[in-house]
Amino acid sequence: MIFQSVRIKLTIWYVIITLVVSGFFSALLYRGIIGEIQTGISRAENRFLVMRNGNLIVSPDIHQQFVEDFQLARKRVLVALLSTNGLILVLASGAGYFLAGKTLQPIEEAMEDQKRFVADASHELKTPLTTLRTEIEVTLRDKHLTKSTVVKTLKSNLEELTRIQSLANYLLTLNKFERNDMSTKRKYDVTKCVKEALKRVDKNAKEKTIVFSVNLEKVEAIINADAITELATILLDNAVKYSDENTEVKITLKKQGDNVILRVQDHGIGIKRTELPYIFNRFYRADSSRSKGTVNGFGLGLSIAKSIADAHAGTISAESETLKGSTFTVILPLSSQ
Ligand code: ADP
Repeated sequence: MIFQSVRIKLTIWYVIITLVVSGFFSALLYRGIIGEIQTGISRAENRFLVMRNGNLIVSPDIHQQFVEDFQLARKRVLVALLSTNGLILVLASGAGYFLAGKTLQPIEEAMEDQKRFVADASHELKTPLTTLRTEIEVTLRDKHLTKSTVVKTLKSNLEELTRIQSLANYLLTLNKFERNDMSTKRKYDVTKCVKEALKRVDKNAKEKTIVFSVNLEKVEAIINADAITELATILLDNAVKYSDENTEVKITLKKQGDNVILRVQDHGIGIKRTELPYIFNRFYRADSSRSKGTVNGFGLGLSIAKSIADAHAGTISAESETLKGSTFTVILPLSSQ
C-alpha cells in the first residue's frame, strides 16, 4: 500500500520533470516558428506594394488577408504544440508509472525480505522461550519439588538458553556479513583459515569418528580472514553434522587461474534435488534435517556462507545426492578489490 502511493508520487515527479523540459522546448520552438512566419509574411507583403499618396504601402485588403493568415498559422502551431505536449503527458505518465515501479521493485523486495526475516527470527526465538517458560512454571507449581527435579529443569533451561544464544550469534554474524562489513581485507594465506576451521570442528568430528582427508595447496588471496574462516567452519560443521559416524570428509583447497577453490565433500545424508535451490535461503532447513530432531541448526549457516562469498565477489554452490553425500564448492577471486 505504501509502495503504491510512493509509486504514484514518483510518477508525478517524473511527469512534472518531463513537462517542464518539453514545455521549455515547446516555448522556444513556438517563438522560433512564429518569428519565421512573421518574417515570411513581411517578405510576402512586400510583393504587394501599391502607391498611395506618393508612398509605397501594402494594400489594406491584402494586409488584412495576411493578418488573418498569420492568426490562423499561429493558432495551428499552438494547437500542434499543445497536442504534442498532451501526448507527452500521457506517454510520460505511463512510462513514469512503469519506471517508478521498476525503481521501487528492489526496495519493495528488500523490505518484504526483511519482514520475512524478522518473522522467521521471532518464530525461532519463540519456541525455546516458550519451552523455558513452561518448564519454569511447571517446576514452580510442583509442591513436592526435589533437588533432582530442579537440577533437571535447570539443565533443560540451559539447553534452551544455549539455543537462544546460538541464534543471537548467528543473527549478529549474518548482519555483520550482509552489511558487507569486510573493511579489513588483506593478502592472507587461505590455508590458515581452513586449518583454523578444522580446529573448530575437531571436537564434533571426533565425537562421530569422522576422518578429515585434507589436501591444501598454499594460496594467498585478498580476503577477510575471519570471514573466510567462518565460511570454511560452516561448511565443515555441516559436513560433520549431516554425516554418519565413521565416514570421511574431504577438504581441498587449490588455486585455479585467478581463483581459489575450496571444496568440502562429505558422504552424509545428502540433499534432495528439489531442495538444493533453497538451501542458501535464510532459515531454510531441508526436510531430512528438520525431521531428524538430533541435528541442531536454524538454517542460517549457508546463508551466512553465501553472504561471505558474495562479499568477496565469489560464488558458492552445492551438488548432492540423497544418501550418497554432498559437495560444496566455493570459488573466490584471488583479489576481489
Ligand atoms: P543448518 O545446518 O543450521 O540447518 P544451514 O544453512 O547450514 O543451516 O543449512 C541449510 C540446510 O541445508 C540444512 O538444514 C540441511 O538440510 C542442508 N545441508 C547443508 N549442508 C549439508 C550437508 N553437508 N549435507 C546435507 N545437507 C546439508
